[in-house]
Amino acid sequence: MEPFVVCPAAAAGAGGLDRGRAGAEDACMEMTAFSAFLAVFAWSLSAGADFRRLDAFQGTAAREDMVERLFGVYVSANLDRGLIDLSEDALYVRKGGSGDPVYYRIAFAVDPLAGNGKENAGSEHAETDEAPVEDIPAAPGGRALDGWRVALDPGHLGGAWSRMEHRHFRIGDDPPVVEGDLVLKIAFMVRERLEGLGAEVFLTREDDTPVTSARPEDFLAEADARLTVDGESPPEPETVESLANRMFYVSAENRARAERIREWGADLVLCLHIDAVPWPDPDEPSLVKHDHSHVIVNGAYSSAELADAEQRVLMLERLLRGHDRVEIPLAEALAEALAEASGLPPFRYRGPNARRVSENPYVWARNLAANRLFPAPTVFLEPYVANSRETYARLQAGDYEGLREVAGEERPSVFREYADAVAEGLARFAERAGPPPFDILFPAAGLNPEKRGR
Ligand SMILES: [Zn+2]
Repeated sequence: MEPFVVCPAAAAGAGGLDRGRAGAEDACMEMTAFSAFLAVFAWSLSAGADFRRLDAFQGTAAREDMVERLFGVYVSANLDRGLIDLSEDALYVRKGGSGDPVYYRIAFAVDPLAGNGKENAGSEHAETDEAPVEDIPAAPGGRALDGWRVALDPGHLGGAWSRMEHRHFRIGDDPPVVEGDLVLKIAFMVRERLEGLGAEVFLTREDDTPVTSARPEDFLAEADARLTVDGESPPEPETVESLANRMFYVSAENRARAERIREWGADLVLCLHIDAVPWPDPDEPSLVKHDHSHVIVNGAYSSAELADAEQRVLMLERLLRGHDRVEIPLAEALAEALAEASGLPPFRYRGPNARRVSENPYVWARNLAANRLFPAPTVFLEPYVANSRETYARLQAGDYEGLREVAGEERPSVFREYADAVAEGLARFAERAGPPPFDILFPAAGLNPEKRGR
């Protein structure tokens, strides 16, 4: 294994989408004592970026497949080639900060069919007298999700934290709408349904207690340091407090949940949310007419985000593990089931932070703290607009059995509709993908399951 190289040509950064880097190879030296020093130096600059996590994937991925998925899902075509670049036989990712010429090299598979493909997997099975996975008939009476390990992440914290995390609103004397509390209630209902289908289910939280042991005040000093600019007046205390709060409820909390998911060992993660839109007039909240639904997979990293070394490692690990191969069809199945149940139209993002990655108009890729940190294929569900007239009325109606007239129509409880659709979507995905670890989704040129480090 020789992942550490100094590649000044790659640092130059220019190049078209799929331009081979013939010539760049000549400029790359193997690791010398000096570059070893640089590599260690770069390491100390990028705390949290553990490039050794990519060691297991040396020689596992075919170039064509990597290029297609890197540019089709994870980054835009105007990727800063000083951060990530490709040669004919390897991908280079910068280890340090800007101007630092130390790159980590990920070699592509020499023969994309060797040891990776279904053909080969079939012959291995033949040698051991085992049938290929796709030929195993479902056990009589077997349930759709027997043996699956599904983590549910009820978004946000809710409870006393809901104002701080801007997931709380109240209209008149109605009970407040607290997203963290609503999705926790839905998570309990989803758990019951998935367990009924045979899955083992884990909730990242079961109440409004933060999973992280840190609290907002623990981040005040770091927030102040980040916001302080030499020669300028000190940051406003409210700005420091607001950043410290976000470091608590977004960064620290999602890292702690990622660790729980890693310890438990999930096959996939579903993040449960309810969407909301900005108030037309924040001073006088009035419900909006428009309601919608969408589902999010990980992707659409900007070059600004990838300037952070940890994000480069996290993104490449997801690409090399093939998470998008699971996330996209899973998101499609869930989006279909949610659209059928709710009848809601798809939400459309504008701007560069989200991109379409499927024919299904409900499926979008975004780089969010949770979906880049969670160590398994992760899909975010964002059905319903909590401050739309219809969904607001349904949320206020609470949970109930059967149908009731709400907002002028006979409807089931929105909680049951959501939970039933998640179970239906997962059962449909199971039919298409087969059981975990979803090897059926890895084409011949894809990953070697043995090297995926499950
Ligand atoms: Zn949310």
